[in-house]
Amino acid sequence: MIINLINNDFRFDISNIVLLFFPRIDTNDATDGKTLTVSLNESYANATLLDNNKVFNHKVEMDSSLYEFERYACDRAVFEVCFADTGLRPPWGLLVGVRPINFYTKLKSIYGNKTNEILEKYYLVSPDKIKLCSDILSIRQPYLNKLKQNSFSLYVSIPFCPSRCKYCSFVSFSTEKETKYIDKYVDILCEEIQKTSVHLRGQSPLTIYIGGGTPSCIPDYLFENVVKCITNSYDLSECFEFTVEAGRPETVTENKLQIMKRYGVNRICINPQSLSEIVLNFAGRKHSIDDFFNAYALASDYEFDINVDLIAGLPFETKESFIDGLLKIIRLSPSNITIHSLYIKRAADYGADASIYSNTNPEVVSEMLHSAYKILELSDYFPYYLYRQKNTIGNHENIGFAKKDKACAYNIYMMDELQTIYGCGANAMTKLVEDGHITRSCGTKYAYNYINKNGEKNK
Ligand code: SF4
Repeated sequence: MIINLINNDFRFDISNIVLLFFPRIDTNDATDGKTLTVSLNESYANATLLDNNKVFNHKVEMDSSLYEFERYACDRAVFEVCFADTGLRPPWGLLVGVRPINFYTKLKSIYGNKTNEILEKYYLVSPDKIKLCSDILSIRQPYLNKLKQNSFSLYVSIPFCPSRCKYCSFVSFSTEKETKYIDKYVDILCEEIQKTSVHLRGQSPLTIYIGGGTPSCIPDYLFENVVKCITNSYDLSECFEFTVEAGRPETVTENKLQIMKRYGVNRICINPQSLSEIVLNFAGRKHSIDDFFNAYALASDYEFDINVDLIAGLPFETKESFIDGLLKIIRLSPSNITIHSLYIKRAADYGADASIYSNTNPEVVSEMLHSAYKILELSDYFPYYLYRQKNTIGNHENIGFAKKDKACAYNIYMMDELQTIYGCGANAMTKLVEDGHITRSCGTKYAYNYINKNGEKNK
């Protein structure tokens, strides 16, 4: 599709809206016979979509009472012509490229109790999604109360996994192939953790999150080096939450759990992603369903808060198998359950072959999520954080659910940019939040580049 803009420069937003309706389109390629022209005048925005031999046109009058009204008018005109062409109605409406909770909060500060009405009428967000935003905001205050001036959290990245899942688009390396890097990586990571603590004068983070990858997949002594380095480098008197992602159930061992307990970890994630054997096999996960239940039982003895992730939309998952898996997990009564929508990126193996998704119907994914949210609500789990990624099947979201008073504070602070997060390790993002301004800097993307770059610096 070729996009022509006249008297406006909203290409980023407009492309994102187009991709909601035509997810696999290249917005710089004319060969598909589609041309979109968006013009902005003093009193209206106009979009014309030429799709081979069909033409769609929509005009939106300018309303200066709306937030960022020129951008809004262009986005809305584009949304309407794409809707006219495809008949699709994405549930988040015009909310693309924004963090829904931040956007909701922004609108609330402008429109007060008219916010829900504005979101539905102008931004075309479905009532279900508006309710999610409002529910999430309603349970947050206790976590916001824990924030203090200049407080921060710490994120440590260990980007290795036992093998690579087919749907993965994270920067993560299989330990089968990259064993030679792990020792060196941990050495350099520990140096960075120490240097960061010196810069912060050893002050206590409020929360710590060791993510990846699957941090629990590295050898015990290296894993212990990382957690020991964190606890030796920082005063942890203010730290009330210390999470380790032990995403792959087969990496949860008695030794790892003992190390975590010894150094003050109090929250872990064990993520089967599905409780269907065929789904797991096809996804390239190397664990069985029994591995998950065994890991969960082992971790329960250590009294961690446990988070369990599921993904809606994996190939061969049916609504029945998805809901059955969720019910089995609810019976275990974890503190948190996170429901992801499958998203497709070019870097992931699935993304390279669109036909693999042909058995994943967006409407089925919508039904899975709709039922899952209802079941979780009835089981006394509350949505507490939400984020969206482009290119999810059915244009949905990822939501963390928690039992009362059991939300993960790190997820709230990080996702909604409420607090400074210092990131250590490859591809770890540092976000400095100062007086409402956010400065982001990202660590070197790949582990081997991180080793080369930081190893050289430390010589
Ligand atoms: S466990 Fe997570 S990070 Fe690791 S390969 Fe699978 S999806 Fe990627």
